[in-house]
Amino acid sequence: MKFETLAIHAGQEPDAATGAVTTPVYQTSTFQQDGIGKPRGYEYSRTGNPTRAALETALAALENGRHGLAFASGVAATTAVLSLLRPGDHVVAGDDVYGGTYRLFERVYRPLGVAFDYPPATDADAIAAALRPETRLVWIETPTNPLLRIADLQRIADATRARGVRLAVDNTFASPFLQRPLELGADIVVHSATKYLGGHSDLIGGAVIVNDDEIHRRIRFYQNAAGAVPGPWDCWLTLRGIKTLAVRMRAHERNARAVAEFLAAHPAVERAHYPGLPGHPQHELARRQMSGFGGMVSFELRGGFAAVERFVARVRLFILAESLGGVESLVCYPPRMTHAALPPSERRRRGIGDNLVRLSVGIEDPEDLLEDLRQALADA
Ligand SMILES: *Cc1c(COP(=O)(O)O)cnc(C)c1O
Repeated sequence: MKFETLAIHAGQEPDAATGAVTTPVYQTSTFQQDGIGKPRGYEYSRTGNPTRAALETALAALENGRHGLAFASGVAATTAVLSLLRPGDHVVAGDDVYGGTYRLFERVYRPLGVAFDYPPATDADAIAAALRPETRLVWIETPTNPLLRIADLQRIADATRARGVRLAVDNTFASPFLQRPLELGADIVVHSATKYLGGHSDLIGGAVIVNDDEIHRRIRFYQNAAGAVPGPWDCWLTLRGIKTLAVRMRAHERNARAVAEFLAAHPAVERAHYPGLPGHPQHELARRQMSGFGGMVSFELRGGFAAVERFVARVRLFILAESLGGVESLVCYPPRMTHAALPPSERRRRGIGDNLVRLSVGIEDPEDLLEDLRQALADA
């Protein structure tokens, strides 16, 4: 079946007990057993819950993977993947990873004896060259945050497979509608379901999708043992979001493309970052690897931080807020918001300047969005 059909039907058959067309919210912590040692399939909702099971089946289907696991947040999903590591292990991560991922690596896992290196995600040779005998995991985000650069997943997967290293891809920015890393050779896909999967800025959630039965067994063990599971209600909201993922992503993309083209041509803008712009350094790779360029755009203002403050104060439709991937357009200032966890030296090294603005382009009318940007940048 095709993506749009899976998004609506995978794991979401009418309820066996009642025929309810929509997966019920099984808001229960525990389940009656028919006798000692005779559960009917579920025992306790940390271990498993039917609403979560429906979501996990849908997640696997969308990424074209065998196993899906749902978590209470994106960072809980990331933590579950890191449970595969032991002290002394080494991780190679792209240099542009989500700020919270970097914080988890550096402030939680490095003190526990795991080593990390951050070569540029856009340079597959640099990633391969950073692999050591004790490297167990490569962690890649693409498109990257906030500069929207593209990592070549197939080339990186070739290098990791040759060395017996697992490749994990944070697919949050692209969504499975536009990019499916398992098909390109990745071993593990991670999502912040808070973003495009949920799609309506009304939940916090995470996901891990894998093909390998043994990796699934270990991460599923950790899911139950550590317990960062989403409640049934959040699972239901995520399922509801997933049903419209394809139509939303098409609308996000149409609007983001219009916004990126507008910004790239605007005199107040020094540079616009969007993989769909022909001048983007990995535009051709993005065309090959993704089936669209997504809804995120970032740009640098000529007037520095003062221009950023002015812009943010003047926009009316774009809401100043962290996060992304919802139906409404958001504006964010990465140095002080999403990437505040990075030391200033690290931000500069990654090219995140004081004049950088990130937009999560929503699915409003594109002309209204352009008009808002036009008035906010006027006389800048
Ligand atoms: C938001 C985000 C995360 C973290 O997810 P939470 O749901 O906030 O825990 C991880 N990776 C990326 C790319 C994100 O945007």
